[in-house]
Amino acid sequence: MNATRPSSDDLVTLSLQLRRPVRDVVDIPARCVCGNPVVATTAPRLSNGIPFPTTFYLTHPAATAAVSRLEAAGVMAQMNDRLGDDDKLAARYRAAHEDYLARRDDVRQRAGLDPVWEIEGISAGGMPQRVKCLHVLAGHSLAAGPGANPLGDEVVELIATEFSTLRCVCARSWDHDAQVPDQDLSRHVRRRNQGYAAESAEAPTHPEETP
Ligand SMILES: [Zn+2]
Repeated sequence: MNATRPSSDDLVTLSLQLRRPVRDVVDIPARCVCGNPVVATTAPRLSNGIPFPTTFYLTHPAATAAVSRLEAAGVMAQMNDRLGDDDKLAARYRAAHEDYLARRDDVRQRAGLDPVWEIEGISAGGMPQRVKCLHVLAGHSLAAGPGANPLGDEVVELIATEFSTLRCVCARSWDHDAQVPDQDLSRHVRRRNQGYAAESAEAPTHPEETP
């Protein structure tokens, strides 16, 4: 995948997709066929100092909603069962964990950051043993391309009827005319609107639960 540095338009789009200001976005590793961001690569330490393990953050609302429906349908439990039964799958999933860490370290270096000791050896989404967040796995697969994460690849396939980077549904996926959230407004915005978690020191991994 050809990751590209975010333009100022990309940052506006990401803020509208997530309904919060974005920060510390290093590049855009996956885009809709129309060019809009689908995944944001985020620095492993935010500029406020907080470690951020979810390097490949799924941002497109149609994608995050489709993945949430899979989670609600019990797909994670099935995947966890399979990881317990299928040694080959478990090995490929461990390799996905290593891939995630290697890519994060590359992002860290490109962002000019020191090693982030707090999340050393810790990837995201439950890897390498468990499946705890399908958004993380899908974000990884969309960023890295097929083959890097077997379960992420499955998630991307499972949502394909609802969301695919090859079929643009951007126009109806978020409010393109909304006021762009900025850092100064964000606290007020969060208090006013439902569906936002309060900002916490805990690094978010789940797009729909966290700002
Ligand atoms: Zn699009």
